[in-house]
Formats: sequence, structure tokens, C-alpha cells
Amino acid sequence: MTYLGEDIPKLGFGFMRLPLVEAAGEKTIDIEQVKLMVDAFMAAGFTYFDTARGYHGGKSEAALREALVERYPRESFQVATKLPAWMAADAEEARSMFETSLAETGAGYFDFYLLHNLGETRSALFEDYGLWEFAREQKDAGLIRNLGFSFHDKADEFERVLDTHPEVDFVQLQINYADWESDSIESRKCYEIARAHGLPVVVMEPIKGGSLVKLPESVASILCEADPKASLASWALRFAASLSGIVTVLSGMSSLEQVQQNVGIMKDFAPLSEAEHAVVARARKALDGLPVIPCTDCRYCIKGCPEGVRIPVALASLNMLIAFNDEYRAQENYDWNATGGEASKCIECGACEEVCPQHIAIIDELKKAAAAFE
Ligand code: SF4
Ligand code: SF4
Repeated sequence: MTYLGEDIPKLGFGFMRLPLVEAAGEKTIDIEQVKLMVDAFMAAGFTYFDTARGYHGGKSEAALREALVERYPRESFQVATKLPAWMAADAEEARSMFETSLAETGAGYFDFYLLHNLGETRSALFEDYGLWEFAREQKDAGLIRNLGFSFHDKADEFERVLDTHPEVDFVQLQINYADWESDSIESRKCYEIARAHGLPVVVMEPIKGGSLVKLPESVASILCEADPKASLASWALRFAASLSGIVTVLSGMSSLEQVQQNVGIMKDFAPLSEAEHAVVARARKALDGLPVIPCTDCRYCIKGCPEGVRIPVALASLNMLIAFNDEYRAQENYDWNATGGEASKCIECGACEEVCPQHIAIIDELKKAAAAFE
């Protein structure tokens, strides 16, 4: 039996980290470069494009129109975009984002439409604003072909959303070999729940925002010795694409070179063998052994914080620096997820340290996070 998205090539083009160019003292999307990237991607037979209302300060969707929609026949590619309720002041503004996305992309309809970034306190907003019902109406009107949601939280909350919304056609999950058994991302658990619900999965962050091509030598050597010819990116992309029921594996590509590398890896994609899976498991174990801050993302600390500091986000961002020396990705994670609960808001009351089961010196770590990211 076939599943939704089975026929879609297993590399998708994420429009969230597009190349930038400086013009009149401002950084804007380098649209001519994006056109070359789209051309190389399409020429290699790949067809899935993923954007969102919020990417690149709201300019990603228009870049997609200019580089793709206005240059290729509409039925030759799939467009996915997302509605971020948490960026809207009220239900009316949230709903208006759909029309804005249609106008900005020029796509006419969305092959895949996602309620963006459910999880934690964000899930409730989509209910409060009536966005599930609204999205179903757009689907009935033929403007959405497949309805889903992207998710950043734990497996329990993921299952709750799926139980509440059996109308979902697909889901988008953060899946990579480093996060597969992670306590904070719970990649494997979420993936298995999706498949138990019979849902196909769009994979996001297969290279962990680029971190898995910046591995410390102790981890990279495990992969390089197993196959000197295989790039670090190929291990990460092939791990994600080897899972069953995958619609496509998104990569937020930033240069023509990255597109060429990734299509080279995925054009004649072969799933990981059993021996290769064992190599990846060894690399994951080595990553787990790195001297990172031992935060398990249990979130006990958040409940009693009078300032609403997003403590686990700050610690996870610091860990991206410690494990991968990946300043870009760490800053990106902090900017996306710590806004409103920045580390510098800490008043050093100590309530979080009293409840942290890992006995982390949270106040000191928050000072480091504030210095690094604010
Ligand atoms: S010490 Fe800082 S982070 Fe911890 S609970 Fe108090 S204000 Fe919040
Ligand atoms: S209580 Fe400790 S381990 Fe749990 S999320 Fe907070 S800092 Fe991390």
C-alpha cells in the first residue's frame, strides 16, 4: 500500500537559511543565488520546497515565488508553508496569515500546509484561535491539499495533539541521529508515535541545523574511518531518509555548493545498511559522552521561575557551542526559542537550582548564555 508522499524524492529544500547579500547597508536574500540553487535542485529531479510565514523576517515566501513559482510549471513541484499562531496578536491576524502566504508565494494552493511549531504553551493558541477548523475549511475549498503540523516538544504532548486531531494528514518532526534518543527532543519516540498513527513524516533538522557537519574530531573520526569517501552530511541525510514512511528530508540549504553536495548524496540514495547503522550508533554514543551541561529538559526549573527565564533553551544553546562549536546554530536556537525569557532576566533568586534534579549551577550557566547570545 502506498502512503502520502511516497513518490516525492527524499530531499526537500528548506527556505529558512537562504544566502544573504548586503545591499544599501542591509542584508537581504540573494535572490539570484537562490534561483541558481533552485535550478540545480530541480534539474536533479527534486521537487519539495518548505517555507514558512516567519522565515527570513517574512521574506522567505516571496523568495520562493520569485525563484520557483514564477519560473516553473506549478504541478512540477510541491510547496509547503506554515502558519505561526504565536506570531499573531489575535485570531484575526493569525487567520490572515493564510491569505498573506497565498499572495506572497503565488502558489495558488498549498500541497502541504502546516500549523507551525506546536508544543509547550503554543499548542493551545491554535485551538483558541480556531485555526484547526479554519485550516479544514481551506482544505475543503481546495487551497490546502494536505494538512499537518510541525512540532517541537516531548512525545506525550505530541500524542495528545494527534489524539485530539485525527484529521491530520502528515507531521513534520525534528529527526537526526544525534537527537534520536535525546531526552529533550525525543525524536525516536515522536517518530514511532506518528507511525503508530499511520502518519507519514516530513523530517526537519536532519543535520541538526548544520551541527552534524561540524562534529568534534573524536566523533567525526568514527564516521570517517568507517567510510573515508562518505561526507559527514551524507551520514546524517541517509540516516533520516532510511526511516520508513518519510515524505521527504528537509535541508535548509544556504549555498549552491550545499545544494550540489546534498543532491549528489540523495540522487541515488541507498538506505543505511545494518553495519552503517551500527557506525551511526557509535557516533551517537560518542556525542552523548561529550562534556555538555547535563540538562535533561525536564523543565522542573521553569515552573517556579518568577522571571519566566527559558532555562533549558539557554542550556541547550550553550551545549551547541560546547559539543559542536556551532555559534550560528546556537544563536539561531536561542533567538527562536528564548525570546521573552532571556537569560539576562534572571534575578538570581535560586528557586530553579533548588529543584534541578541534575544539580546544575543554573545561575552561572545563565550568565554565560547572556554573555554569549545577548
Ligand atoms: S535564579 Fe534566575 S532563572 Fe532561576 S528561578 Fe530565579 S530568576 Fe529564574
Ligand atoms: S530542572 Fe535542571 S535538568 Fe531540568 S530542565 Fe531545568 S536545568 Fe534542565
